Amino acid sequence: MSARLRAGILGATGTVGQRFIQMLERHPQFQVTAVAASDRSEGKAYAEACAWRLPGEMPASARPLRLQAPRPPLDCDVVFSSLPADIAQRSEEEFARAGCPVISNSSSWRMAKDVPLLIPEVNHEHLRLIDAQRRSRGFAPCGFIVTNPNCSTILLALALAPLHKRFGVAAAAATTMQALSGAGYPGVASLDATDNILPYIENEEEKIESETLKILGRMNGAEVDLARFPVSAQCHRVNVSDGHLAAVRVKLARPARLEEVREAFASFTGCPQDLRLHSAPERPLIVRDEADRPQPRLDRDAGGGMSVTIGRITTDRVLDYRFVALSHNTIRGAAGAAILNAELLAHEGYFASLPSKAARRAQSNQAS
Ligand code: NAP
Repeated sequence: MSARLRAGILGATGTVGQRFIQMLERHPQFQVTAVAASDRSEGKAYAEACAWRLPGEMPASARPLRLQAPRPPLDCDVVFSSLPADIAQRSEEEFARAGCPVISNSSSWRMAKDVPLLIPEVNHEHLRLIDAQRRSRGFAPCGFIVTNPNCSTILLALALAPLHKRFGVAAAAATTMQALSGAGYPGVASLDATDNILPYIENEEEKIESETLKILGRMNGAEVDLARFPVSAQCHRVNVSDGHLAAVRVKLARPARLEEVREAFASFTGCPQDLRLHSAPERPLIVRDEADRPQPRLDRDAGGGMSVTIGRITTDRVLDYRFVALSHNTIRGAAGAAILNAELLAHEGYFASLPSKAARRAQSNQAS
């Protein structure tokens, strides 16, 4: 019998929280044992407090879990956080301070100098920031915070990573068309969304422009040197349920032929694929050559929602190349990203003191 780590979900009733519950059902390394949300939900069973909005049934194991406040202690070894940013700032720090690893989706800690902003295929070496965090913040021994990027940043950074590695990126400009589920639930009012495009998503452009440079930055001693190229982002909310799409233009530092750019995308893999992590897609980037792909409805579930689909790769008259990239915003852009981060952390031994607890429980379960 394998010992699984006990996971708590903060913001468990929300759009991303529900994805966590769905993706962690039958996960080989984590089992959900605690859920937390606002005081509107506190004290209720998950089945009562959560209006389940994903296809399929709410997992039976989650139904009886009682919602608590997002404060330690919770009955878990690790927390996955999908709290609103203003709540996450304090709550996540409290968990880390109490010795609980925090795997966060929220934006509060992403740009802190000692917090990894992790995409395992791109910058797994940034995990070394955890050592600095433990030294400087006085967290209890097992406690730390690791974040995943904003849902649109993830697809842009994953797409730029192979180009930056092979040719250097000198400039990038992205125009996003982002799904309604990216705004959470109930999100955008139907009268604003119907027959319409909203050319403003609060703080989104700033997040993409800053986070991309941290993710593609290099470890230098105990810090990340930010990548040095301009990123420009324009973000739009469009009438699509799931799946963010970005039209990207890129200028390269070294000349590259179109076939080389295509090949850089198509052959890209990273440590999750080498390590065969449970949630790792076989190919993080899937190149499609049809003139009319990617499309949100057809391509968001590629690789179980964990692959970014890239198409329309061609030369550009203003910058060097352009392409269109698409990913599932609540899977690769949120819950799936955090779970992949946790799988890498587990592999790298960052939950080192925890398996012994879990193993003890497994032993006692076997004995009983
Ligand atoms: P959501 O659907 O609005 O869900 C918010 C969750 O937070 C709910 O569980 C809610 O609980 C809880 N919550 C709200 N106010 C709270 C409070 N004062 N104290 C404790 N819990 C509170 O939002 P979401 O889309 O899941 O987004 C959650 C986080 O993930 C945000 O930081 C967002 O930026 C980030 N994110 C979202 C996406 C996406 O595609 N949606 C992608 C990447 C990152 P109740 O049910 O009790 O109100």
